[in-house]
Amino acid sequence: MALEKNRALTKKQLETLKNKLLAEKQALVYKESLAAEDISLELPNEGDEVEASISDYNNSHLLRFRNREVFYVKKIDNALKKFANNEYGLCDDCGYWIKFERLLARPTAEMCIICKEEAERDEYSNIVSKQSKSMGRVVDLTGMMA
Ligand SMILES: [Zn+2]
Repeated sequence: MALEKNRALTKKQLETLKNKLLAEKQALVYKESLAAEDISLELPNEGDEVEASISDYNNSHLLRFRNREVFYVKKIDNALKKFANNEYGLCDDCGYWIKFERLLARPTAEMCIICKEEAERDEYSNIVSKQSKSMGRVVDLTGMMA
């Protein structure tokens, strides 16, 4: 199979991507500090169970949102580390260059589109099996509560 090798990124392209990563990280850290303020406002009032459960829901929702952001900041840090090691822009899987257009749209991309699509196919089948497991748990829970 003839795999088309992408051209190496130019210094200028790398610079653009690095600045993009730094800007995205800065925006996330700023949003993170706003989210922390929200949580302190969402503390449940004692003695009001309905309020408390709504507030719990909001907090867990917010926490899930924050986890995703923390995860993304980690990805950005990872990408920045790669800059330091001159590994940025190379596919983790096959070692070829990731296209500049792809990195521009997703500067934390760690795989070229070919490897990513392959990984996503695997991921999808994992999600499907995980979902059927958690659905089983939900059914168990309703059974216990009835
Ligand atoms: Zn690849």
